[in-house]
Amino acid sequence: MAVVTRFAPSPTGPLHLGHAYSALLAHDMARRHNGTFLLRVEDIDQQRSKPEWEAQLLDDLHWLGICWDAPPMRQSDRLRAYHAALDRLWQAGYLYPCTCTRRDIETALAAPQEGAPHHGPDGPVYPGTCRPQHAPQVPRPTDQHLRLNIANTHALLGEGLTFSETGPTHPASTITTAEDYTRRIGDVVLARKDFGTSYHLSVVVDDAAQGITHVSRGEDLFYATAIHILLQRLLGLPTPLYHHHRLIRDDQGKRLAKRDDARALSRYRAEGATPQDIRRMVGL
Ligand code: GLU
Repeated sequence: MAVVTRFAPSPTGPLHLGHAYSALLAHDMARRHNGTFLLRVEDIDQQRSKPEWEAQLLDDLHWLGICWDAPPMRQSDRLRAYHAALDRLWQAGYLYPCTCTRRDIETALAAPQEGAPHHGPDGPVYPGTCRPQHAPQVPRPTDQHLRLNIANTHALLGEGLTFSETGPTHPASTITTAEDYTRRIGDVVLARKDFGTSYHLSVVVDDAAQGITHVSRGEDLFYATAIHILLQRLLGLPTPLYHHHRLIRDDQGKRLAKRDDARALSRYRAEGATPQDIRRMVGL
């Protein structure tokens, strides 16, 4: 099987050691198998994404010795593909509009009959306030959040959905049952009214469009993978193999964040580090 991997950074801040590790792992995996390595710039958040961060990340990756085998895909160029996927889900009755604010959701979850809220990949599991009895028979609204109606996917979920994992900290194969989807994931937002899409929808549509066979990314995204597998089924897209790698942490054991400038690659570069030093620092 031809191996196709990718690195998918968001240009919302400087790349740090954790990104370097992630990019190098995906890149090295493709090279080891004589495969293809692709880059995708995940810039659907146009408020936070900046051209200067994109320029810096491309430069940092080149400096690390990483090259990509096709021009980078940019998510801000891909809205039509996301809208086509949303239209398909809408027409099949899997989506509904939601007008709840974060505050509304907190209030609904605080009601005594709700019990302790479950926390899913996107935060507290949505209590279902806007979920309609019947799929809406109107054109897909573009000015509201659209949520996935998990209950309507049950027929397709059957015994549950499985994906294959090769990362170090999770079992080789994970099954998510219909009950898990309802309890732990719930009706996630697939289109935000401000972006017209969401991370989950875009990542699934783009991994398929780029023909990714092996998704290698941080283990913070492990629990979101169940959403991605479900979306692949709903949209008739293939499911890649997954590898969720450990996260690079700071000296206090906290995972690195974009604002953690002290670990920015540019900082190490300015101090005279070599790409080999970076590889060593992340344990490669
Ligand atoms: N853009 C995401 C991030 O920077 C990565 C998404 C993915 O690899 O699936 O965290």
